[in-house]
Amino acid sequence: MNLLSSRYGYFLIGVWLVFQLVGGASVVLAKDQNAPSTVAKDARLGGDAARTRFVADLSKTTDYRIFTLSDPYRVIIDLPNVSFKLPQGLGNRGKGLVSAFRYGLFAPGKSRIVIDVVGPVHVEQSFVLKAKGNTPAKLVVDIVPTDVANFERRQRELYQKRQKKPKAVEKTSLDKAIQRLTKTGKPKGRPRIVIDPGHGGLDPGAVSVRGSKEKDIVLAFAKVLNTELKRLKRYDIKLTRSVDVFVPLQERVKIAENYNAALFISLHADSISRRLASRTRGATIYTLSKEGSDKEAEAIAKKENSSNILAGLDLPPESSEVGGILLDLTMRETKNQSLKFAEYAVERMSGKTKFNNNRMRSANFVVLRSAVIPSVLIELGYLSNSKDEKLLRSKKWQRSLAKALAKAVDKFLQDNPGG
Ligand SMILES: [Zn+2]
Repeated sequence: MNLLSSRYGYFLIGVWLVFQLVGGASVVLAKDQNAPSTVAKDARLGGDAARTRFVADLSKTTDYRIFTLSDPYRVIIDLPNVSFKLPQGLGNRGKGLVSAFRYGLFAPGKSRIVIDVVGPVHVEQSFVLKAKGNTPAKLVVDIVPTDVANFERRQRELYQKRQKKPKAVEKTSLDKAIQRLTKTGKPKGRPRIVIDPGHGGLDPGAVSVRGSKEKDIVLAFAKVLNTELKRLKRYDIKLTRSVDVFVPLQERVKIAENYNAALFISLHADSISRRLASRTRGATIYTLSKEGSDKEAEAIAKKENSSNILAGLDLPPESSEVGGILLDLTMRETKNQSLKFAEYAVERMSGKTKFNNNRMRSANFVVLRSAVIPSVLIELGYLSNSKDEKLLRSKKWQRSLAKALAKAVDKFLQDNPGG
């Protein structure tokens, strides 16, 4: 299944899509999947707050789509498979109307640039220039300020032009709840586990002073955990991503539900302000709760939930519809199971790694919202702490902790084979 093209990328946000192509012949449509992907080698910002220009140097011309979003205000450029070979930290500094920009793989075969802007803007013009002699091909975007009323009027017009029939409300959770309660849909065969390495693609997650990215750290750990679980020969395992690609938060839950997982483990590594960095370290295991167990847990959930926003998607609404008593009952049971697994995990992981003062916490994480699958989110440690960072990068530590975690999974699933 193509993760994004229909369901999220263009349903949730596509209603505001502007499709702009440069004059016919100069556009290379990347229809051939085997064609070498375009490489973005450099990018820069020019101009000022009256007109800001974003330029990306490309190895060849490419097609693209550009549109704007609000809450917060952003300019989104969707591209076919572009490989970004840009200097480190390039998008961290803004200019004029731009406060920062990010780039990366958004879905298999799709790349995206997200430009954060300081207020409502209008894309005055955008075009791709062919390479000429030693000058590379260029994607050029000119952004000018506008006011809220004009911004909204334009979005409305685009919305009307491109309006699609809304899809039926997703009912996966409810359907699965009914199946599970009536025991009709219990998966056959070995219990299944979904491992969810957080972030990916254009969402790097936390970044350490040294430049270690959360998305890489947690993917590496997910692979080690996968190996350790496979060794037990009792479970089938799926990763929500096995490469450096962005996966929307709600899609991660859906992957687990469609796979009929008995357990969902989301992996993250946190970071904290420089002031607290040297004395804040250790792992924390989170389960779902509407209100955070404490202020910090709430702040962390907010930060993790912003993954969608960073990638130019909306945050999914909390499903309050149609559930009723049946879903409530299932959710309560799922919550108890999640807590049970969290306890096992703390027990087995203790001694293998340091824990934060509060080992078990809860908050409203989007990825933990499955009504039917016991789910936990593990912050493995703090990338902002140099001791933790060293551990997080160590293969030995990864293996030892993954082994401990696999033991907790094993105990949990031996006790609760259906999850
Ligand atoms: Zn994270």
